[in-house]
Amino acid sequence: MHTSHPRSAPRVIVLSGPTAVGKTTVVKRLRATHPELWISVSTTTRPSRPREIDGEHYHFVDDSTFDKMIEHGEFLEWAVVHKRAKYGTPRAPVERALAAGHSVLLEIDLQGARQVRQVIPDALFVFLAPPSWDEMVRRLVGRGTESAEERERRLTTAREELASEAEFDVTLINTEVDEVCEQLVTLMRTPHLTSPEA
Ligand code: 5GP
Repeated sequence: MHTSHPRSAPRVIVLSGPTAVGKTTVVKRLRATHPELWISVSTTTRPSRPREIDGEHYHFVDDSTFDKMIEHGEFLEWAVVHKRAKYGTPRAPVERALAAGHSVLLEIDLQGARQVRQVIPDALFVFLAPPSWDEMVRRLVGRGTESAEERERRLTTAREELASEAEFDVTLINTEVDEVCEQLVTLMRTPHLTSPEA
């Protein structure tokens, strides 16, 4: 007899979208307001920024450690982001969380999202869109933590990423962080829902 109720089925939600759209802010807010949610902590070779905590925001590793992890198949997906640093989703914690019945949220770039589609085709792919291109540029420039060259690199990536919206199951427009968070929570808690409005 099939006993598991569909509501209890854990799912993988992939949140992706352009660089400066505010994915990190959304995930940060979710961690604070919904500590019960299982959100993946990525591994990266980029240096930590002020106030970033190793193991909480990212696992910060050097390049050779990252490469060994690739060799050992430890990543669900990984990518070089902004042609600069490597970022990857550690596979084992995700598998453990799913096995324990938790839905899993991955906040990753588009290249990573495409890889997850290959290995977990029934994941839900959520595109976080900016309210407008101008607003996105304002956010990108406003952050002020990157050099002009780095900003230009990020804008180029963002243009390409905006064009990829059609590959996703759901688009959420990031007009208000709390609203996006609630829509994501609804998606994580409701198996088979492909639209938070449904
Ligand atoms: P930041 O360096 O600003 O924290 O993140 C830069 C970009 O890396 C963001 O677009 C973010 O979505 C992406 N990113 C973070 N973690 C991962 C990951 O594990 N895999 C992939 N493919 N991208 C990631």
